[in-house]
Amino acid sequence: MEDLLLDEQLQTVAAKVRSGIRLDGDDGLRLLRAKSVLGVGYLADMVKRKKHGDRVYFVVNQHITPTNICINRCKFCAFSRSKGEDGTFLFSLDEIEAKALAMQGMGVREVHIVGGLHPDLDLDYYLEMTHRLRRALPGAVVKALTAVEIAHLADKHNLPVEEVLTQLQAAGLEYLPGGGAEVFAPRVRALACPEKISGRQWLEVHAAAHSIGIRTNATILYGHIETLKERVDHLLQLREQQDRTGGFLAFIPLAFQPKHTELARRYSLSVTTAYDDLKMLAVSRLMLDNFDHIKAYWINYGPKLSQVAVDFGVDDIHGTVMEEKISHAAGVDTNEVITKEELVRLIRAAGKLPVNRDAFYHSVEEGNA
Ligand code: SF4
Repeated sequence: MEDLLLDEQLQTVAAKVRSGIRLDGDDGLRLLRAKSVLGVGYLADMVKRKKHGDRVYFVVNQHITPTNICINRCKFCAFSRSKGEDGTFLFSLDEIEAKALAMQGMGVREVHIVGGLHPDLDLDYYLEMTHRLRRALPGAVVKALTAVEIAHLADKHNLPVEEVLTQLQAAGLEYLPGGGAEVFAPRVRALACPEKISGRQWLEVHAAAHSIGIRTNATILYGHIETLKERVDHLLQLREQQDRTGGFLAFIPLAFQPKHTELARRYSLSVTTAYDDLKMLAVSRLMLDNFDHIKAYWINYGPKLSQVAVDFGVDDIHGTVMEEKISHAAGVDTNEVITKEELVRLIRAAGKLPVNRDAFYHSVEEGNA
């Protein structure tokens, strides 16, 4: 069986995986270039099983997007608008609180907040928002603001990043989402998101969060103008940071969604294929040996491919979401919500054990979740 799945190149990597030897950049490239996606998935599944057995996690969560007004206007982002343009939105604190209150009694364990860099919203807006969300949903963790948004607030108020994070933590923020990492390579950022903070700054914000006990996620936005080596370098930088600070909980590879984006128009880019996606998920599991969780973001992959991904190193298929605006602006055709029952059904049908988790991966319900 193994002989069929693992060619000579993959056999070299397999020997290291079996002995628990850390893979290097050349191994990462070998895996991404491998002809057999099943071979790469087989190795990733071996590692996933050692860490989590048959468990596959999901969370009952709510996404809230406060605004799509953003001063950065990244070339891969179909979601953002400039102030004054048609199609903008900005929710008041009362409206955001009402969204959370509407979810009371529904078992929400995490509120996920990501939005644009609005030129006029200040730190007080986000402090009050965090405070109100904690009050409305006391059983949920507030997972809010990417490193890019934190750096923007620090810049706007001329405060150190640590101070912004400390104030948000005092208001009830416990977790940062992993967005804004894109691809760390300066070449890619110069072409795809020239106004965004650098990869180095993104890593520094997460290091600052980890130093005061805020856990965070990490991402990569792949499948556009980056080279395979730039992808692998991104993973290696995350792995090094995790060795130093240890605060990342999950890694989420995000497939580029080309529709309505300037980047796709300029470089004639298409959507990734299922083979690209499964391989990227599996390689992430194999390279990021110090990350506990690899997540398939079903909004981008669709529920069916996310289900298959649980045999390719994935142990988490994200959450119920409730409302998603960012990927849908770039043309994804999945629903904005999936029920807990449907997630359980998909995980069970893949022969795995569904675990309804909280934001920190503690089990809320297991087996009969
Ligand atoms: S990706 Fe984020 S920072 Fe960039 S334009 Fe979109 S909302 Fe703004």
